[in-house]
Amino acid sequence: MLILWVLAFLLPLGVLAAIVCYAVAAPASQWLGRTRVRGNPAAGTIALTFDDGPGEATPLILEILRKADVRATFFLCGQNVERFPEHARRIAEEGHEIGNHTHSHPYFLWKTPGKIAWEIDRAQEVIVSRTGHRPRLFRPPYGLRWFGLFPILHGRELTAVMWSVSGRDCRLPATGIADHILRKVNGGSIILLHDGCPPGERGDRRQTAAALEEIVRALSERYRFVTVSEMF
Ligand SMILES: [Zn+2]
Repeated sequence: MLILWVLAFLLPLGVLAAIVCYAVAAPASQWLGRTRVRGNPAAGTIALTFDDGPGEATPLILEILRKADVRATFFLCGQNVERFPEHARRIAEEGHEIGNHTHSHPYFLWKTPGKIAWEIDRAQEVIVSRTGHRPRLFRPPYGLRWFGLFPILHGRELTAVMWSVSGRDCRLPATGIADHILRKVNGGSIILLHDGCPPGERGDRRQTAAALEEIVRALSERYRFVTVSEMF
């Protein structure tokens, strides 16, 4: 009998936890607020996006994009812009779109609206002051959209952007990154890659840079590269 009571109590809790997990963390979730995940498949466009920069690999990535005449979208962390202001300026000067990826790249889980707002506002200030570009797009760290985030974005005319294809470039070697993306991509895809690491974390994005040339070469035969704002 006791086991039935325990189950009756735990089952709704489990269902509730699954619902919250989907709403907060699933890239395609629209439950907490409107989020751009992909463009129109028929338009034949794709958007490359780079998170967590700027970083050491940013100039290498910019050089590959410049040679291929491809414009991308960079979601920058304010603290990394303070660390690499020249790289951030170059991203803007070379015609790429800049989005806000918070100041210090925190997990939003259990954060108060005040803390979330501070992270977004501080990053906006730093990005504007160093690049002259005011972001209209926002990507949440780790893809986590917490309660209270969307009213903050709405008040600042920021649009939440996730992705439809993750390059898994934090884990895979260059050939694996390119293979994975070329297998998964289709029209309207928003592709997630990284040109830096979250502030305070160490890492190396040379594998991303090494994969990028092949990704751009293969995909430009089939699609037109656009920034996220151009896609919508
Ligand atoms: Zn990130």
